Amino acid sequence: MIDFQNVIEDIYSDLKHTTNKGVVASYIPELAKQSNASFGIYLKPIDGNNCHVGDWDTPFSIQSISKVLALSKAIAFEDNKIWQRLDVEPSGNPFNHLTLLELENGIPRNPLINAGALVVADILVTHLKNPKQDFLEYVRNITNDQTINYNLEVATSEQQTGFKNYAAANLLKSYNNLNNAVDIVLDFYFHQCALEMNCEQLANAFYLFSNKGKCVNNKQHLTLSQVKRINAIMLTCGFYDEAGEFAFEVGLPGKSGVGGGIVALLPNNFVIVTWAPGLNPKGNSLIGMQALEQFTTKTNRSIF
Ligand code: GLU
Repeated sequence: MIDFQNVIEDIYSDLKHTTNKGVVASYIPELAKQSNASFGIYLKPIDGNNCHVGDWDTPFSIQSISKVLALSKAIAFEDNKIWQRLDVEPSGNPFNHLTLLELENGIPRNPLINAGALVVADILVTHLKNPKQDFLEYVRNITNDQTINYNLEVATSEQQTGFKNYAAANLLKSYNNLNNAVDIVLDFYFHQCALEMNCEQLANAFYLFSNKGKCVNNKQHLTLSQVKRINAIMLTCGFYDEAGEFAFEVGLPGKSGVGGGIVALLPNNFVIVTWAPGLNPKGNSLIGMQALEQFTTKTNRSIF
């Protein structure tokens, strides 16, 4: 029997004092206030005790990680229809790259790059009565935590500086791949990315992807086939243009965000979340990736 608490404590002490901790994102000014000294890990097994170490209970901006939660809600509304507006191929480009969108006639490469997430946001704006409030309720419900909220300073900060996202949304609109007004879709998207959670809340939110579509309340939200698809997209597209490296080093489906969070999971086994705000040049948490590589190597738990 592996002592998981021991394993994550070892990893934590090994990496906590490394000198190269990466660089905190600053293109969203509010995120630049984070310290790259923060570091937390939370493990939520399907059976067994939760384990945690470090800054696991400090809330942080989940940013792109929210794209998976938005996709899971959109898929529940439109299921197969959604794939007429979105592809499922890794982009091999940074998350905010626009060239491919033009080359491929306004069909984003996948739902986890920004252009794809904007199409998903558009679907949610179409189907939800009060999009921002209803999406927040969905996240609170699957997490069983009514305290989760948007960080409005972060949303405003991105609203004032997210020019590439405005460009992507306008490009999508020009290809008739946005049904709602550009400003409304962006307002929803900036709030979605500004969701704030700690490592434990994020592990609870992603539990349904490791538990056959059933959330922590044991309520079925997704079919097995939808869970398979979402996990496949996380594996192939969840780490910007470093998804291959993450699969190679860690071997789990997952998603990172520029707030420094990473969530990864082994279907039917566990969800693991790391938070360390210093990023590597590809935009993934530097220490977080190293911690997850150590975790799957030490425990022999990966999808491969
Ligand atoms: N809101 C961020 C953006 O659109 C998300 C980036 C990320 O975490 O990858 O730029």
